Amino acid sequence: MNTIHTILIIGSGPAGYTAAIYAGRANLRPLLFTGKQPGGQLITTTEVENFPGYSKGTDGPAMMDDFRAQAERFGTEVIQDSISNVDFNTGHGYHSVWTEGGQQYDALAVIIATGAAANYLGLESEKRLLNKGVSACAVCDGFFFRGTVVGVVGGGDTACEESIYLANLCPKVHLFVRRNELRASKIMQERVFKKANILIYWNTVVQEVLGVDKVIGVRLRNTLTKEESEIALEGLFMAIGHQPTTELFRDYLKMDDQGYISISPDSSHTGVAGVFACGDVADKVYRQAITAAGAGCKAALDAERYLNRLNPAGN
Ligand code: FAD
Ligand code: NAP
Repeated sequence: MNTIHTILIIGSGPAGYTAAIYAGRANLRPLLFTGKQPGGQLITTTEVENFPGYSKGTDGPAMMDDFRAQAERFGTEVIQDSISNVDFNTGHGYHSVWTEGGQQYDALAVIIATGAAANYLGLESEKRLLNKGVSACAVCDGFFFRGTVVGVVGGGDTACEESIYLANLCPKVHLFVRRNELRASKIMQERVFKKANILIYWNTVVQEVLGVDKVIGVRLRNTLTKEESEIALEGLFMAIGHQPTTELFRDYLKMDDQGYISISPDSSHTGVAGVFACGDVADKVYRQAITAAGAGCKAALDAERYLNRLNPAGN
C-alpha cells in the first residue's frame, strides 16, 4: 500500500513554490514536482525588476533559487521529476499521480501550477535572439527598451495591449499583422488606431530577426505582394498567443476554449474536490510572477481549508 501524502504540488514556478511555502508553514509537508523547467519561466530571463522585495532587481534563476530555498526551509520535499499521468477519480478519497520515472504518488490534495508558455514564430533567428531583444512580455521587458523603436507581432488583444503599453515608453511601435484586420476586440482596436506612434503593417509577416548578439531589425514579407523589406528596431515582442500546460489534466478538469483550467471565481477550486490550480495555468489575463505567487498562496490556503474539513480533528 502506497503512503497517502497530504498534499502534492505540480510545478516549480512562482505559483508552485509559493503554494509550497504556505503549505509547508501549515505543517502539510508538501511534495513538489519540479517538471522539466525547475524554477519555471523566470529561469529564462536575466532581469526581473517588478517583483516586490528586490529593490535593485534580480535575475530570474537567482530569484527562483530563493523561492526554492524558502519552500525547503518549511519542509517541502522537492522532487526533480515530471508528472506524466494523473488520476483525479480514483474513487478512494485520494488522488494519484505518476512521475516520468514511473513512481506513483497518492495524496488527499493536489495543487496544479504547471504554467503556460508563449507561442513563438519558430524562426532560428528569433530563438537565437531570445532575451537579447526578442521577448514575449512587454510588461516584463518593455522598460528595458524605453526610448527605442520596437516592434510587436500579432493581431489579438494581447498584441494591442502590448503595443499600447510600449507606445507609452517608446517613440515608435511597429505592429506586424499577418492579415488585413485585427482579431482584437473593437475597443482595443480603436485604442491602437488612436495612438499616433503605433504604425500598423497589414498582411505582413516577420521573415527574420536581424542581429548577431542583439536585435537590430527585422526582415518583413508582405503576404500579398511578396515584397520583402527591412526595418530597424531594438526590441521585438511576440504576442501570438500562449499555450497553458494542461494536456495532462484534460480528462478530469474543466477548461476554457484555450485550454486554461477553469477555477471558481475568487478561489483556486477546479471543481474536482481536492484539486486546486494556480498561476499562469489558470490565468490568461495577468501572467506575471507576482500574480502567480499570489495565486499559489490562495491555492495553499484553499487546500488547507479543504483538508481541515476532511479531517477536523487533524489526525
Ligand atoms: P511557470 O513559471 O510557467 O512554471 C511552471 C512550472 O510547472 C515549471 O516549473 C515546469 O517545469 C512545471 N511543470 C510543467 N509541466 C509539468 C509536469 N508535467 N510535471 C511537473 N512539473 C511541470 N513576470 C514578471 O512578473 N516579471 C518579469 O520580469 C517577467 N519576465 C519574464 C520573462 C520571460 C522570458 C518569461 C517567459 C516570462 C516572464 N514573466 C515575468 C512571466 C512569469 O515568468 C510568469 O508569469 C510566471 O513564471 C508564472 O508562474 P507559474 O508558477 O504559474 O508558472
Ligand atoms: P489570440 O486572440 O489567439 O491572438 C493571436 C494573434 O496572433 C492573432 O491575431 C493571430 O493572427 C496572431 N498569430 C498567431 N500565430 C501567428 C504567427 N505565426 N504569425 C503572425 N501572427 C500570428 O491571442 P491573444 O491576443 O494572446 O489573446 C488570448 C485571449 O486573451 C483572447 O481571448 C483575448 O481576447 C484575451 N485577452 C484579452 C485582453 C483584454 O481584454 N484586455 C488582453 C489580452 C488578451 P490571426 O488573427 O490571423 O489568427
